[in-house]
Amino acid sequence: MKFSRSSTPAAALAVAAAALASPAPDLPNNAGGCVSPPASHLFAAKFLPICAADILDKCIALEKAGLANILTPGSEDYEARTKTYWSITSQLMPWCIVQPRTAEEVALAVTTLVKETSCEFAVRSGGHFIWPANNIEDGVTIDLGLMDGTVYDAEKKVARISPGSRWGGVYGALEPHGMTVPGGRASTVGVAGFLNGGGNSFYSARKGFACDNVVNFEVVLANG
Ligand SMILES: Cc1cc2nc3c(=O)[nH]c(=O)nc-3n(C[C@H](O)[C@H](O)[C@H](O)COP(=O)(O)OP(=O)(O)OC[C@H]3O[C@@H](n4cnc5c(N)ncnc54)[C@H](O)[C@@H]3O)c2cc1C
Repeated sequence: MKFSRSSTPAAALAVAAAALASPAPDLPNNAGGCVSPPASHLFAAKFLPICAADILDKCIALEKAGLANILTPGSEDYEARTKTYWSITSQLMPWCIVQPRTAEEVALAVTTLVKETSCEFAVRSGGHFIWPANNIEDGVTIDLGLMDGTVYDAEKKVARISPGSRWGGVYGALEPHGMTVPGGRASTVGVAGFLNGGGNSFYSARKGFACDNVVNFEVVLANG
């Protein structure tokens, strides 16, 4: 059976591309962008107050843009969400966590974050990566955890899977239809990060990488 992530995985490759495409830090020019200074520029601590203002600006800008789900440090939701990272090394403290619900909201978050400064951001789906590439200390985390859902189209035999889903939930949704997909071998692994890496499933010998079985991706481009 083939499956599609066409409803929301928007964030998938394009959001990563947006992050990677950020200009290389050049401290004197991008000081407002809160890029951590390289060792040779450590003398430039005078720029830090500008960064502090920018932290507030960025998170308020997200709210002003109409994004409703923004978690800030100290709130119960922020702490609870941080604890759901699989690896303790990923349990970093971003300035705020924005949780879009649709591809359009992911696009809005990306455009808002990159519009005025070079502030960095991270993208998280299942949060199961062993490496802290799914969170950020000096920036904003786009958390796709609310984009969680699987809808099966029996006629087309295609499953539409949102990027913040975890494989356990996907299998549970497909089982009543007598169907499954080549996904993670641990139920807590997330869908989007897994597919970004190819995806080694119990069906790899027969079906190839999980990403080979994707019919369609909905993608948010770096320019939103
Ligand atoms: C216990 C365990 C079991 C595992 N089992 C398997 C297995 O059976 N087969 C296998 O192939 N792998 C396996 N993995 C590895 C797993 O696939 C990866 O860690 C994968 O990245 C997890 O996906 P996630 O959605 O939870 O990613 P996250 O931790 O959310 O993110 C991982 C990376 O992908 C990026 N990313 C996530 N979502 C998006 C998005 N929507 N757009 C752009 N970038 C995004 C993040 O920025 C980050 O760099 C396992 C890992 C563990 C710890």
